Amino acid sequence: MSVQSLTRQWASASDGMALEDPRLFRQLAYVDGCWVHGEGGREEAVFDPATGERLGQVPWLESHQIDAAIASADKAQRAWRLLRADERGELLDTWYRLIREHKEDLAMLMTREQGKTLADARGEVEYGASFIHWFAEEGSRAYGETIPSHIPGAALGTLREPIGVAALITPWNFPLAMITRKAAAALAAGCTVLVKPAGETPFSALALAELAERAGIPAGVFSVITGEAAEVSKQLCDDSRVAALSFTGSTRVGRLLLSQCANSVKRVSLELGGNAPFIVGPDMDPEEAARAAVDAKFQTSGQDCLAANRILVHDSLYEDFLTHFVRLMKKLKVGNGLVSGIDLGPLIHRDAVAKAQTIVDDAVEQGARLIYGDQSMAPGPNFFMPVLLADVTPSMRAWHEETFSPVAGVTAWHDEDEVIAMANDTEYGLAAYVYTHDIRRIWQLMRGLRFGMVSVNSVKMTGAPIPFGGVKQSGLGREGGRQGLEEYMDIKYYCLGGLPSASGS
Ligand code: NAP
Repeated sequence: MSVQSLTRQWASASDGMALEDPRLFRQLAYVDGCWVHGEGGREEAVFDPATGERLGQVPWLESHQIDAAIASADKAQRAWRLLRADERGELLDTWYRLIREHKEDLAMLMTREQGKTLADARGEVEYGASFIHWFAEEGSRAYGETIPSHIPGAALGTLREPIGVAALITPWNFPLAMITRKAAAALAAGCTVLVKPAGETPFSALALAELAERAGIPAGVFSVITGEAAEVSKQLCDDSRVAALSFTGSTRVGRLLLSQCANSVKRVSLELGGNAPFIVGPDMDPEEAARAAVDAKFQTSGQDCLAANRILVHDSLYEDFLTHFVRLMKKLKVGNGLVSGIDLGPLIHRDAVAKAQTIVDDAVEQGARLIYGDQSMAPGPNFFMPVLLADVTPSMRAWHEETFSPVAGVTAWHDEDEVIAMANDTEYGLAAYVYTHDIRRIWQLMRGLRFGMVSVNSVKMTGAPIPFGGVKQSGLGREGGRQGLEEYMDIKYYCLGGLPSASGS
């Protein structure tokens, strides 16, 4: 089906989105179990990045409305934390099932507001839902400890308790999964949440709220507040009723929020930017390595914190690798993510296109080889055609910045110590990829790389059971895995004295 006929189909639909279940397309905030308008008349328009078409709008809530949302989350927390973990788990599992049942509609909403291909959007719905399923069960494993007592007549131990109200601020590149990765853990732990989605992609978040309501998650437990980002975030950071702040987004904003949380001394988790090295060893088949590097570079059009940002290839296979890489990237189809067969959708907005171009220009001015990349082929103003730059050096922006676009930069290396130093030459420390079959080299690289996650001979590394997160300026804390639950729990130590010493405590 062509883009034009798809767009006409939506335009003629009464809800503007042509969803099987039109009630999933919500244009109001969701607070304390109610759909709410803004009271100051302010709103934010949302556009399809592929076509520029206005999809709708969401209200900007006023300060007193944010205050009411915090109060409702605080009130709801008192009952939610008292439910048994398996009772919360059952509600979460109902939510999980509803999300999967509505996968097609959720994917459609996501492709329209974010631009990624429908196949990628479906994948994100499954990925996002998997956190809910996983934490629905993991909540029942929030074990405390027994501590062998050093105090006569006392029993010692720890309990793990929900931290309270959690504010979750999320980005536009994964509009659904970045919410569920946080919310599932927080809700399973017994916290209530206030989600502030990115202004570009609020509809996925609001569809999640609609499904949470249908799942029977009580009012005030999962709210979605839309508003002016700096204003809302500041209020959430300042308010002492909010016990935890979890943020995914840029390092720039992460630093700001960390400093704003200082006054109320909140628990802060930050999932920030990345600058992933992709290291190819001399024993690799250059074609196999190029195929993996293309996969690691171009997903979500390169707008992925895990995207391979610096591809570091052993000098013995450098030119062969470039030949295979360019052949494979030429096959990638760029266009509207709604059309089948498309590999790369648009970038999120024109600023992102302009940034990608300045990164390419800067590299070429400083001597990088532009091997492939013709922007005259771009199918619209928000699209950026894949680019391959060879001989990228540390002085170039393509090396030290997260390009967040389909710009691939490649550099040659000769020995392991050199490539470890090259890979670590960044303020970021989220993820690194290593491609080699030499076990000695694998171990040396795995230990030498200062990154929170190292993936060896595999592009896929994420999922609900693993502790996702970075070191250095890529963030604080972990999401997913048993560690993900700990972000939303306090440890309470108890000393139960006055017991008979003979009780063996
Ligand atoms: P961003 O500009 O930092 O925005 C993220 C969130 O912060 C949005 O909700 C945004 O709201 C809000 N925000 C923006 N400016 C703010 C301010 N001055 N004060 C308070 N809040 C503010 O990041 P982005 O461009 O959406 O996302 C891309 C970044 O996220 C990349 O660096 C990427 O690596 C990172 N990321 C990291 C991970 C990870 O797991 N480590 C995962 C995905 C993405 P508005 O949209 O309403 O302005």
